[in-house]
Amino acid sequence: MTNYSTKPREYILKFLSEHKNKRFSCKDMYEHIKNEGYDINLATIYRNVDKLVESGELLKHQSNDKNYATYQYIENTNCLAHFHFECKKCGRMVHLGTIETNEFLRMIQKKLFFTVEPQNTYITGVCNDCNRKFISIEV
Ligand SMILES: [Zn+2]
Ligand SMILES: [Zn+2]
Repeated sequence: MTNYSTKPREYILKFLSEHKNKRFSCKDMYEHIKNEGYDINLATIYRNVDKLVESGELLKHQSNDKNYATYQYIENTNCLAHFHFECKKCGRMVHLGTIETNEFLRMIQKKLFFTVEPQNTYITGVCNDCNRKFISIEV
């Protein structure tokens, strides 16, 4: 299955674009890409993801203690300007519209005089599908 003409950055982009609505750490990506049969090592992934962030193809999210980073495929440039909601049950990511994001940002600015950086903000909760699943199990 190994295709020598495919560059590591292409494996990474292919993998993340196939999982657009999730974000992954380098280790997660490494496990998944390796399981798909590609020959890649962790150091190569680390080297390539930061280049992809610089070129605007991936969004990087760093944990508060800076010890842990995850990466998300940027579907369109709006991903840098809007909020993402992340389901803690299935890991799915939901994108908030830019108009709604701007309304929210204006409200926060007015109330708290605080400027939020949407690209660094993931709001966690439970998605619609998981909510429904949960309810149907309960009933
Ligand atoms: Zn987005
Ligand atoms: Zn979910």
